[in-house]
Parts: sequence; structure tokens; C-alpha cells
Amino acid sequence: RAKADGRGTYRFFETGMDARAQARRLLEMDLRAALQRDEFEVYYQPIRDVASGRVVAFEALLRWNHPQRGLIAPISFIPLAEETGLIVQLGEFVLRSACTDAATWPDDVDVAVNLSPVQFKSPNLIASVTEALAASGLDARRLELEITESVLLQNSEATLTTLHELRAMGVRISLDDFGTGYSSLSYLRSFPFDKIKIDRSFVSELATREDSMAIIRAVTGLGRSLGIVTTAEGVENDAQLELLRREGCTQAQGYLFSKPRPASDVAMMLGGPRLRASA
Ligand code: C2E
Ligand code: MG
Ligand code: MG
Ligand code: MG
Repeated sequence: RAKADGRGTYRFFETGMDARAQARRLLEMDLRAALQRDEFEVYYQPIRDVASGRVVAFEALLRWNHPQRGLIAPISFIPLAEETGLIVQLGEFVLRSACTDAATWPDDVDVAVNLSPVQFKSPNLIASVTEALAASGLDARRLELEITESVLLQNSEATLTTLHELRAMGVRISLDDFGTGYSSLSYLRSFPFDKIKIDRSFVSELATREDSMAIIRAVTGLGRSLGIVTTAEGVENDAQLELLRREGCTQAQGYLFSKPRPASDVAMMLGGPRLRASA
């Protein structure tokens, strides 16, 4: 109907909201059921030392094996899991799985786990990390927790306390997606980071944009002077890897080496120095 009177428009809008709210409720129910039905699985993506080419760690990346919809990426369900608080349970599942899997890997291969800001602020965090380490027997020094800048925005006192508690346990902290948020340099001074992960957007434009190159150079230089490891995300080709090596970036992660894969593929991913993702 072409007639756009105020009331019609309003009703249309309201109907749209209803549909959206309903889809949200369905997804929420689906998420809860999925947790019960064990439909979540942790995939792993290798992170290599740029100088030696050795796999030094794997990042744990959550996937949902949906019975009807197939494999679902985190972008499609993590925001709702955060809104509903389900992320705390999901996050505990990832922590437990990642520590249990990593305990079976060689001792010099670490595991990196993403923490949602909601999970980071939950009073359970220290207990869940302690439990995951104890249950798996994984050395705390092999666990890295990745947080984003949004965690650092509010209540810096509490954040700082949590970060220090984690580090006192031996766990290392990475600042994920660096360069996409507020990227205040004062964060690097105020909070105890072991690693900076340079966001994929800078890496993808490395060869074509002078300014991306300049940013990578600045961040790797900063890392070097502050004694913080730098990891480039989203490395997809040799040209990017070569530029990163030249700038002295410590580690690289990306499809050039492998896409994230199930835990059963870790041994294979540890194999050759230049295994490529073929699927
Ligand atoms: P992230 O932590 O920055 O993870 C890196 C993302 O980049 C992953 O997407 C990975 O598959 C993708 N990636 C890696 N190399 C390449 C590449 O060469 N090219 C391209 N185009 N992409 C690459 P994924 O697995 O879809 O995860 C997306 C985001 O979801 C993650 O970004 C992280 O923020 C969040 N996430 C994933 N797993 C978890 C989890 O267990 N808990 C929480 N809280 N968040 C998670
Ligand atoms: Mg990450
Ligand atoms: Mg990242
Ligand atoms: Mg990223």
C-alpha cells in the first residue's frame, strides 16, 4: 500500500519490531538449547613466530554446529549471548575446552582465548579461569586471554585489579583488535599487556596503503620499546608477511597459514612450516 499516513507507518514499524523481537527470542531459546545439546565447538587457528616460522600458539574461536543452519560464526550469536548473559556460560565452555585441548599439545604451544567484556566483568571470571586451569592441568603460563579496548573504558580500578589477579596467576593478557577502538596510548601504559594484536584491517591494506604501513610500523616499534609482543591478524599473503617481517612484527596469524579448524586438526596444523588452508 502506497498510502503513507502516520498511523500506517507506525503500525508497520511496530510490526517490524515485533518480528525482530520474536526472532531474538527464538535465537535466545535456540542458544540455551544449544548449550544443553553440546552444539558448540572450539576451532583453532595457528599463530606463528614471524622470525622462525614456528607455531607458537593457537587462538580458540567459537563455532556453533547448528542442526539446521550448519556451522555458525560468532558474529551471528555472540552479541545476543552478551545481551542475555549467556556469554558467561559459553565463555566458560570455551575456557574449559581450550585448556583441556591445549594440555595435549606440545609444551611450547600456547592457547589464546577471547573474553567478552561481559565475561570479563562477571564476578566468576577468576574462579572460571582457575577452574579451567586446575581441571585441565594446563600451566597458566600457556594461557593467553584476549580482551578488547571496550573492556578498558569503564571502571578502570576494577579492570586493573582483575588484570593483575590474572597475571599473578601466570596468565598473559593480549589487547585484541588494536587500532579499531579508542586505541588510547595511555592504555598501554596503564594496563599490563603482554601482547598487542594489530587488527586485520591494517594488515589487509598493508601493501596498498602507505598509512596502514605507517601504523603497523608505529605499533611494532611501540611494542618493541615497551617489551610487548606484537601479533598481526589476518595475514593472507606472502607480501604481507614479508612486510611484517621487515617491520619486526613478532607474530602473525591468518589464512596464509590456516583458517580456524577443529581441535582434531591441530597436529596437522603443527606439521609443516607453511601449511595452507585448502578448505
Ligand atoms: P578475533 O578475536 O579478532 O578473531 C579473529 C577473527 O579473524 C576470526 O573470526 C578469524 O577466523 C578471522 N581471521 C583470521 N585470519 C583471517 C584472515 O586471514 N582473513 C580474514 N578475513 N579473517 C581472518 P571468527 O572466528 O569469525 O571470530 C570473530 C570474532 O568473534 C573474534 O574476533 C572474536 O572477537 C569473537 N569470538 C570468537 N570466538 C569467541 C569466544 O570464544 N568468545 C568471545 N567472547 N568472542 C569470540
Ligand atoms: Mg581474538
Ligand atoms: Mg582479534
Ligand atoms: Mg579482529
